[in-house]
Order: sequence, then C-alpha cells, then structure tokens
Amino acid sequence: MEFRFSAEDEAFRGEVVRFLETELPPRWADTSEGPAEEGAANDERWAFTRTFQRSLAERGWLTLGWPTEHGGAGAGPVRQAMFNETMAHYRAPSYNQGVDRVGPTIIMYGSAEHKEFFLPAIRNAEITWCQGFSEPGSGSDLASLQTRAVRDGDDYIINGQKIWTSGAQHADWIFCLARTDPDAPKHRGISFFLIDMRTPGITVRPLVNMADRHHFNEVFFEDVRVPASNMVGEENRGWYVATTTLDFERSGISRVVSGVRLLGELTELASQPGPDGRRPDEDIRVRHRIADLQIGFTVGRWLAYRVAWMQSQGLVPNQEASMSKLFGTAVNQQLAGMINMLGLHGQLAGDVERAPLNGRMPDEYLNAVPLTIAAGTSEIQRNIIATRGLGLPRG
Ligand SMILES: Cc1cc2nc3c(=O)[nH]c(=O)nc-3n(C[C@H](O)[C@H](O)[C@H](O)COP(=O)(O)OP(=O)(O)OC[C@H]3O[C@@H](n4cnc5c(N)ncnc54)[C@H](O)[C@@H]3O)c2cc1C
Repeated sequence: MEFRFSAEDEAFRGEVVRFLETELPPRWADTSEGPAEEGAANDERWAFTRTFQRSLAERGWLTLGWPTEHGGAGAGPVRQAMFNETMAHYRAPSYNQGVDRVGPTIIMYGSAEHKEFFLPAIRNAEITWCQGFSEPGSGSDLASLQTRAVRDGDDYIINGQKIWTSGAQHADWIFCLARTDPDAPKHRGISFFLIDMRTPGITVRPLVNMADRHHFNEVFFEDVRVPASNMVGEENRGWYVATTTLDFERSGISRVVSGVRLLGELTELASQPGPDGRRPDEDIRVRHRIADLQIGFTVGRWLAYRVAWMQSQGLVPNQEASMSKLFGTAVNQQLAGMINMLGLHGQLAGDVERAPLNGRMPDEYLNAVPLTIAAGTSEIQRNIIATRGLGLPRG
C-alpha cells in the first residue's frame, strides 16, 4: 500500500476545496442543524442539498466513481475516498442513496432498460431514493423479511411493512426487498424491486428520533402494483443483489472522517479558558482522551483507505469493510462523549449564548448513537470479522 496521494490527486483535492468554499453557504459547517442528509435536514437545508447535488452533477463529481460507460467520471476508489473525505470535512451534503447504493447495484445487476431509465436520472440528481430493507421483525436477520410480492400477470402485488426507512418522506423511488417464494429457504425466496413512491397503496409514516429529527419512517405497502420489469436480477435471487448494495453501503469513508474536524475544534476549545476560567486541557485525563481520539481517527482513516485501496486493486473488501465500519463508528461515539469535557455549558443546544461550538455537541452526542446500529450493528460486524476474517465457527 502506498501511503501518499499522487500530485494529480492532491491538485484535485485543491479544486474540490475551492468549490466547497465557494458553494457552501457561510457557516454551513458550524450550525447545529446536523447533516443535510436525505431526511435529516429541515426543508431549507434539504432544498439546498438538492441544488448542491445538481452543482456536483454538472461537474461530473456526483458520480465520480461510476464507470465512464455509465456516464460517471471513472475515478478510482482512492480518489473517490479522497473526494468523500474532503466533502465530509466541510460537512457538505454528500449522502445520496441513488449514487452510492442503488446506482452501482443497477450497473451490476440491472437490465438495459433499468440502466437507460434510472442511471441518467440518478447521475443528474433528478431523482432521490430510499432503501426498503428492514422490517419490524427483520433487521440484523434481514433474510427473515415478510413483505410479500405475488405475481399477477405482468405485475407483482406487494403487501407488507418496512421500517427505519431513511429519507422516505423525500424519496421518488424505493429499492425494496420482498419475498417471492415463501416456501424456499429464507435467503432464496427474496426478490429486489425498484418501486415508484407515487404508486397507489404506499403510505409513509414519520418516525422522529431522539435528536428530534424526522430522519426515518415506516413505509406501508397495501396491494401495491409493481411492473415485473422493475425487478433487479432474477426472481428469488434478490438476496444476492442486496448484499452487493450493503457492501456499497458499508465501505464509505465519510463516517470516519466526519469526526476529524470536530476533534480539531474540540482540541482548540480545550486550549481556551472555559466559563470557570480553566483550560480543559490542563486536566491530564482530557489530554489523554484527545490523544486517544487522534490515534483512533488516524487508524480509522487508514482502515477506510484500505477498503478503497483494495477496491482499486480489484479485490473485494469484506471483513475489511466491517472493520472500518466497526472501528470508525466506535471512535465517533467516543468523540461525541467529549461533551462532558465542556461541563454543563456543553449541554446547551442550538446557536445560543455561551453554547460552545454553536451548541452542536448535544446534537453530535445524540446523533452518534445510531452510528453503531445503521448499516449493520457492531455485533453483526464483529460476527463477520470473526467468521469470514478469522475463520471462527458460527455461534
Ligand atoms: C440511523 C438509521 C438509519 C437506518 N436507515 C435504514 C434504511 O434507510 N433502510 C433500512 O432498510 N433500514 C435502515 N435502518 C435499519 C438498520 O439496518 C437496522 O436497525 C439494523 O440492521 C439492526 O436491525 P434491528 O434494528 O432490527 O435490530 P435487531 O436486529 O433486532 O438487533 C437487536 C440487537 O441484537 C443484536 N443482534 C442481532 N442479531 C445478532 C447476532 N446474530 N449476533 C450478535 N448480536 C445480534 C444486534 O446487534 C442489536 O444489538 C436504519 C437504522 C438506523 C439506526
């Protein structure tokens, strides 16, 4: 592995930095609104997210890593990781399930019609997506899902319920798993569908999380008629399509590096006198925690780059992606725990007087909790590392 970026990559990073410093509104990264993800944002930030993603699309950066034959910029995984890292540093709206998950899945498994219809719309930031995998009784054990799809002429009729569906309130389309053969072993009776969210019979109900955000939803399907041509891959082989989507989901670098900036801000804050007149970093325990976090983020960053590097070599990261996800999310939670360094003032939320870091810490703390659950819990990542990485027996 080469621990340096090429001069071309560094020049590209400079170009991205200049773009972000021009395009992002003043103080974008400093407010406590949280990431402008699909669903995580208020309406104004969501509207900006759409505009911003179109600006990325115009430069070909939205689909930087997609192959050129599918309209992408054909950048390698390392440059893509570098781009994501820079975007995360500026807290720029980067989360896009079309670009990161379903687009690459359609490239691998979609029909010619899927590619022709969906890829340009995703590439040009014209449509947004949500992921309909989890159900009330099926999260870690996703293959036990119960939503049913029954063939009826040229269509399937779908009935069931999804949960924790991020961004469903904004999404134009949902990529969704449903059981097409209830008698087959659980992994072999599932199919992967692309469904227009405007189809009659779909109801989206908000779930507000403990940070008081409407990030995810319940999605109900009642006799939803979906053309059979909207199935990706073969009938009953959808599990294998979905695992590809999940691999794309787990291998991101953004979640690791998004904390690096906050660590820098907290380190700076620790060196200034607090309301009691003392510098927090006079306390050796604070200095040790900052040092541990610095080491943690350095390791997390290289674990994430290792995943990108393996992809650039044509290797398939598996336990390596799990290690990156497990480690990166844990270190971000430890960082959020630094809220107690700030004393009672650290609990002030929002851009109010005396709130350190514009009142961002309570938000960071609450939003760090789901990191070790989303995209596969830490226990599941450890199972993968144990069985696939270390060859230990399944429990
Ligand atoms: C912020 C956020 C966004 C999300 N967005 C989406 C989305 O857009 N679309 C979507 O489909 N889903 C989404 N999810 C759902 C997510 O994929 C599930 O929450 C996750 O897979 C865990 O499933 P569960 O919540 O049902 O927990 P469960 O699977 O019920 O797990 C409960 C506990 O048991 C542990 N456990 C379960 N099985 C094992 C095992 N075999 N070995 C050891 N421990 C085990 C788990 O680690 C966990 O601690 C999101 C979740 C979060 C937090």
